[in-house]
Amino acid sequence: QGRLEGKTILITAAAQGMGRACALACAAEGAKVIATDIDAAHLASLAQESSAIQTELLDVRDAAAVQALAARTPALDVLFNCAGIVANGTVLDCTEADWDRSFEINVKSMFQMTRAFLPAMLAHAKADGGSVSIINMASMASSIKGFANRAAYGATKAAVIGLTKSIAADFIRQGVRCNALCPGTVDTPSLRGRIASAADPVQAEKDFIARQPIGRLATVDDITPLVIYLASDESQFVTGQALLVDGGVTI
Ligand code: NAD
Repeated sequence: QGRLEGKTILITAAAQGMGRACALACAAEGAKVIATDIDAAHLASLAQESSAIQTELLDVRDAAAVQALAARTPALDVLFNCAGIVANGTVLDCTEADWDRSFEINVKSMFQMTRAFLPAMLAHAKADGGSVSIINMASMASSIKGFANRAAYGATKAAVIGLTKSIAADFIRQGVRCNALCPGTVDTPSLRGRIASAADPVQAEKDFIARQPIGRLATVDDITPLVIYLASDESQFVTGQALLVDGGVTI
């Protein structure tokens, strides 16, 4: 405990899933957490779980709202761009609307968030000796590995890794680090939704488990330790990396 003492961390898509688990884990490590999402009800229940968590309604697609939040937020130590959606389909049956929506939420949001919050983080980083960190949510389904029916998703998450490396290269001498997190299949509300909407949900769950050589789905608690590490000064020499937590999928 206390590994993030004195740090302010903003997380997008923090009402559910990995974002929520990371908000709670960062607060438990002493951080002041700004948890943002479009889901007011789940944000409200999150705020009740820790006095260190402040919540803000934020749609990552809304560039003006992103700018407005940045303008009234003190300089961050850590920005965790977690928001992302999964569009189903091959390149032939992914609609143009799904393609555009995927890039808007999964990639353009990170461009907007980083442009809005990075200037203050840069000023802070110089004074602070370089412990400022950006964490971008990618996936093992990206430039790392191809999966069936994930054309738009895989393309967006590959773009996240590219953007991450570019930010890391551009700001390394200014005390800012940027890394991408690449989870395997994690048991979260959206994964449960994907399983439930399959033609055969029982088989779909078995298939999701079977693709992980370790023999089970990840839980959010398998993912939070890496986020704590990337947010903390323990990872000061780590930047521009796409870090996998995938239960052996890419062995
Ligand atoms: P989730 O999908 O269950 O929850 C996502 C949250 O995002 C919800 O609270 C939702 O309200 C919020 N959200 C949706 N659209 C938003 C928007 N426009 N602005 C702000 N918030 C919005 O959570 P999860 O499964 O932990 O996924 C989080 C991230 O992790 C995503 O980027 C996803 O692609 C990535 N990821 C998930 C898995 C997995 O197996 N679950 C694996 C690898 C990567």
